[in-house]
Amino acid sequence: MAKGKLTDDEQFTRLCENGFGFVAKAIDQLWDHGSPDALKYSVINFYSGVELLLKARLMKEHWTLIVADPNKADIDEFLNGQAQTVGLTQAIKRLKKVAKVAVPSNAANSFEELRKHRNRMVHFYHPIDVNEPNQAKEREAVVLEQCRGWFYLRRLLSDEWHDVFEGFHGQIAAINTAMKGHREYLRTVYDQIRPDLESARRAGAILVTCSACGFEAQVLDEIGPQEHKCRVCLAKESFLLHICPDEDCGKRTLLAVEECETWECEHCATSIDLSDVLYEYTVEGKADHDEPNQPALCTECGHIPETAGTLDDGETVFCFNCFCWPERIECCEWCGEPFTGDAEGTYWSGCEKCEGKAGSMRDD
Ligand SMILES: [Zn+2]
Ligand SMILES: [Zn+2]
Ligand SMILES: [Zn+2]
Ligand SMILES: [Zn+2]
Repeated sequence: MAKGKLTDDEQFTRLCENGFGFVAKAIDQLWDHGSPDALKYSVINFYSGVELLLKARLMKEHWTLIVADPNKADIDEFLNGQAQTVGLTQAIKRLKKVAKVAVPSNAANSFEELRKHRNRMVHFYHPIDVNEPNQAKEREAVVLEQCRGWFYLRRLLSDEWHDVFEGFHGQIAAINTAMKGHREYLRTVYDQIRPDLESARRAGAILVTCSACGFEAQVLDEIGPQEHKCRVCLAKESFLLHICPDEDCGKRTLLAVEECETWECEHCATSIDLSDVLYEYTVEGKADHDEPNQPALCTECGHIPETAGTLDDGETVFCFNCFCWPERIECCEWCGEPFTGDAEGTYWSGCEKCEGKAGSMRDD
């Protein structure tokens, strides 16, 4: 290999180092009160870091995936750093489609929010006056956005993608430490709203720990599937609050995400069945077994037995395993099985459960 070119592995390492470098820089800049542009560059750099780390994950599958047009992927251009590469949205799509690596929708939304803010900063003149009280407001918004973004990214890097980023645990830990200022800020928000949270609790709501910021600031005020915004960090999260079926207990219990095989009441340990929960909240769950109405396959999590159904309002769709809110349920035009998503073209290509007409012709 010619001098000056990096190998795939070296490219991966370089992407990661740059990515962590940008995030670390952004965190410093956020608290730099002296410079009028610091806040703007914090937004830009933080986003750049997130994008680079997602690209690095995609690159680990195969280097051609991060090239914007894979048909034109040229190893020399790539190794020289001259190839045009994908953006964030494309990277997330390719991770899912090609590599079967899902970025949860809450995480994807949070990264998307960082991207939009970054674009506003880059494309429009966005003056920030250090002497203006508004700058404090602006900084608050950025603190929250970065907290959410880092929370989701850290969870991917150190849990789901642990093996891929094994060599970078030092950097991940260092960024966690550097986020201390962000967390202190969240603590003051929490202290301020605590009286409101307490009065919500007294009025009968259940307070749940937000998985983005760790404060007990998600306020659940109904039974069944629901989505809330954390009162501290504004992260959106979905929950499933259920009434324990045991008559002696009958308490409200929180059912965990992605554990629909093993739910049990947190108060009395009575086991709670998926089919009973589907019966309680969905149109499909209440249908007779000989009716064609059955829960749908969730294409986000692919759980079998099927976990997606239409809530009693007849419109809203919810997956009781991964807690996503698909837009619709449609039936495969070839095999008739319901799934979350668009059935157009399935007569020919089939769904997750069949291979469509094309598959049946191959078999003949
Ligand atoms: Zn939160
Ligand atoms: Zn119970
Ligand atoms: Zn699901
Ligand atoms: Zn099918």
